[in-house]
Amino acid sequence: MTAHLVDGAALARRLRAGLAAQVRALQAAGMKPGLAVVLLGDDPASHVYVRHKIKACEETGVGSFLEKYEATLSERDLLARIEALNRDARAHGILVQLPLPKHIDARKIIQAISPQKDADGFHVANAGALMAGMEGFWPCTPHGCMKMLESIGYALPGKHAVVIGRSNIVGKPMAMLLLRQNATVTICHSGTRNLKALTREADVLVAAAGKARLVTGDMVKEGAVVLDVGMNRTEEGKLCGDVDFESVRPVAGYMTPVPGGVGPMTIAMLLANTLESARRAACA
Ligand code: NAP
Repeated sequence: MTAHLVDGAALARRLRAGLAAQVRALQAAGMKPGLAVVLLGDDPASHVYVRHKIKACEETGVGSFLEKYEATLSERDLLARIEALNRDARAHGILVQLPLPKHIDARKIIQAISPQKDADGFHVANAGALMAGMEGFWPCTPHGCMKMLESIGYALPGKHAVVIGRSNIVGKPMAMLLLRQNATVTICHSGTRNLKALTREADVLVAAAGKARLVTGDMVKEGAVVLDVGMNRTEEGKLCGDVDFESVRPVAGYMTPVPGGVGPMTIAMLLANTLESARRAACA
């Protein structure tokens, strides 16, 4: 067996083309969707992510407002900026690029963003809505993973999904989204005993540990769908996922490459959340 590759870049392009058409329709009705992006400091990776997000906004017709601050900006001043953006009718989505400098409590900042403008889907109101089976904004990376499963027509009910990682931004919401689709879900973390025994049982395996090539072919069930969320750098500086592509490809049924898999889908879902927020504002 050679796994089919789920081309996240191509799927994200298609989704973004659909979103661009929706932006044009909103604009024709006098509404321009907008995303405010707040960036502190000069972390090179954060700058790259923000550049990609702003470029995606431009290509889709979503307005973007980049607010750049020194890493020394106080928590109080950042909270004041978030408050101002909550009131700014041009910003339908607000994104604060993480990680934040150590003197700032990221949780406090995320909770200060209006849940209605929570483009990243990290606010507890949205996390709670996801848990309770209600409507809300879902975190972009797991939401993108769900879209990828949908794109291959994968039926989740009754399937065993194993998620490696339990972060608030990827692992936990991923597990919740899979559960909402009636998969039976196992969540693994650094304290999990015998990871391999669990992953080998997975019909769907989501790797979100942030550990380069953690998942090897002998950990994967024949024909499984393997979604690789990881974004790691090798010693040579090359981008690589949490999945060992070479050993897993002969075993899996479907898998996502890195780069060109989950990453582009994350940005597409960020735009989708912003647009949805604009649509709700237009109807309010
Ligand atoms: P995180 O906050 O560091 O969480 C990593 C999780 O993996 C933790 O729950 C940790 O367990 C678990 N873990 C670590 N090593 C493990 C091991 N050997 N076995 C089992 N579980 C293990 O990371 P994150 O923010 O969720 O991100 C995960 C990865 O996804 C990173 O590589 C990140 O760069 C990438 N990412 C990609 C995108 C994208 O758009 N493609 C978006 C977001 C994140 P404990 O809880 O016990 O510590």
